[in-house]
Amino acid sequence: MEIHFLGTGSAYPGMNRDNTSLCFSNHGYHVLVDVSGNPCRKLKQINIALEELDCIIFTHFHIDHIYGLPSLLWGMWLEHRKKPLLIFCDKRNEKNLNRWLDTMAVHEWGINFPIHIKTFNGDLSQELLVGGDMSISCFPALHSVPTIGLEIKLENQLIIYSGDTEVNAQIQTYQHIDVLIHEATSAIERNPNHTSLTEISEFYRVDSIGRVFLVHLSDHEPYDEEISRLQLADKIQKAEDLMCIKL
Ligand SMILES: [Zn+2]
Ligand SMILES: [Zn+2]
Repeated sequence: MEIHFLGTGSAYPGMNRDNTSLCFSNHGYHVLVDVSGNPCRKLKQINIALEELDCIIFTHFHIDHIYGLPSLLWGMWLEHRKKPLLIFCDKRNEKNLNRWLDTMAVHEWGINFPIHIKTFNGDLSQELLVGGDMSISCFPALHSVPTIGLEIKLENQLIIYSGDTEVNAQIQTYQHIDVLIHEATSAIERNPNHTSLTEISEFYRVDSIGRVFLVHLSDHEPYDEEISRLQLADKIQKAEDLMCIKL
């Protein structure tokens, strides 16, 4: 399995980071979680053809997590994609997603791939899909709008993604997590709807987690200093754009 970090920045414009977006790939099945930056260029940089992408999951409908969708669809059309594209969104966002596709006149471009929108109820934990030997479920996250976290299960590994949210009691319930990808919009300062690196170290049983990768990072925050103060350099690290971890 490969986890590609296409973007690792918070909602604030970053100097060297696109907004947070990840691609989970296993056995040729590719799931893009949120769409930011220039998704076509990023997917090419990690050697995933636009034709190969199987589905998109939107964690929530804040602009920094969705704005790359028009250029992604445009690129897929230009490259004559034929494979159906699955898009998961909260049922409360379905109308806006369809309106947006209409505004862009996507269905008038002459695209040759069906876009299937599947909705979920982000207030509940539920399985979204099984593909490439990955089972992906969502659980409610704590943010200012309906938002989900993701649980990605492989045969013998568990990955948790908590992308734009406060710390989450659901994540405390896991006995063991192999990889936790968690937002840290700030290093130390506490803010509603978000998480600081300090809070991650205090709220979760870091001993029961294999590795922690931080995303949704802001410029000019003292992450490195805080990681070293917490003496967690062997456990917690900042993700960087285009970084890939293999499990
Ligand atoms: Zn965000
Ligand atoms: Zn957000």
